[in-house]
Amino acid sequence: MAEKSVLEQIAKKSGKQAGEIEDLVEEKKKKFSGLLTDSGASFMVAKDLGIELGLESVKRINIAALKDGMQNVDLLVRVMKIFSPKEFEKNGKRGTLCNLIIADSTGEARFTVWHDDVEKIAKKGVKRGSILLLHNCYAKEFNGKVQTSLAYKGRFEVNPDAIFADLPEAKSKIVKAGELAEGMNDVSIVARVLRIFPATEFDRNGKKGKVMNFLIGDETGTVRATAWNDLVEEAQKLAEGEAVSIDEGYTKPGLKEVELHLGWQARISKVDETGLPSSEEIRKGSATRKKIIELKQGDSNVLVEGKIITVNKGALFYNVCPKCGGKVHRLDEGIVCDKCGEVKEPDIREVISVRIDDGSAQVDAVAYGKEAEKIIGLSNKELKKQRSERGSESMIEELQELNGTKIRIVGKVKQSNYSNQPELVAGVVELD
Ligand SMILES: [Zn+2]
Repeated sequence: MAEKSVLEQIAKKSGKQAGEIEDLVEEKKKKFSGLLTDSGASFMVAKDLGIELGLESVKRINIAALKDGMQNVDLLVRVMKIFSPKEFEKNGKRGTLCNLIIADSTGEARFTVWHDDVEKIAKKGVKRGSILLLHNCYAKEFNGKVQTSLAYKGRFEVNPDAIFADLPEAKSKIVKAGELAEGMNDVSIVARVLRIFPATEFDRNGKKGKVMNFLIGDETGTVRATAWNDLVEEAQKLAEGEAVSIDEGYTKPGLKEVELHLGWQARISKVDETGLPSSEEIRKGSATRKKIIELKQGDSNVLVEGKIITVNKGALFYNVCPKCGGKVHRLDEGIVCDKCGEVKEPDIREVISVRIDDGSAQVDAVAYGKEAEKIIGLSNKELKKQRSERGSESMIEELQELNGTKIRIVGKVKQSNYSNQPELVAGVVELD
């Protein structure tokens, strides 16, 4: 059946009953032996009755009809893909552009928006699947393909009451982390950001590039994501614990498992709480349970359960750079971060090491930051205060009260810098 709003619009403008219009539409469809869609038939009925419908414009054309040099045309399209906005410099002026792939029933084309419109795309919530009514576009041929952009006075409407939109669906393959396999393209995933690693720069054939890794996961598992170049900037806006939607990624085999790559066509957007499990649930869910005796150097994402037998001696915190969170060094000239330079007032990061026993063997487990706080039982501020008042030794003595407490740790196994023994580095700590 034709859309009600359309029928009503035609009825209102023609002074006829909606039912009557519906009959006319059905008749029209029969006449064309089912070749007409509802909206196509409604359009023809409106035309027969001499009615202009809201969206119908004389200038409106199909994508297949776009030709190099056309100006002042309107298009009604579906957004099939949005690429990450890009900054560029031309004649000393900076600008931004954003490419979209748009489609209607006749074909696909690249649509480029510039400058302020790039911001509007984001602000108006344009995403894959959105319908756009583009007013006043021009077309240009590039590399043998026709592309379109808004003219100087052009504008666009998002999800208009698109009554004649025989638009194709925007396909998306939304997958779960556990379903990712080698060689997948156009992958979309909604997951939680579990860990963010610092970005690094590289030089390849004289071209500079950036790359950044982050770990995401959902109830089915975790996956390492790799953002390249322009996408690194987007990925850097993410925070651990946030839910994120990644579109148009592709997969590649990694060192151990398949990885999700975010190339130039990928898109990262933060999403609201999505019913995803918490970071801790995801880590625990995806971890492999192991006995301490089975732990091997290089193991990652293992779950170990045991009892604290002693709290190891240590400083309980170390100084970090308040800007980047990296370690700082105390030099004669003052405190210095390798990345950020001089540090006036360093932040502190908690660290604690406990020896645990699960009956099979013993291992030292070290926890940092918030996870260390769970064991120490003090906030960052309180810890700093107490340690300067009475020193870490007496605090650790007091913490021996924890001996015998059940502890669950999800983490990785690494060679300790101090003892040369395997050490469990905690990602998640749970105390009974
Ligand atoms: Zn720093």
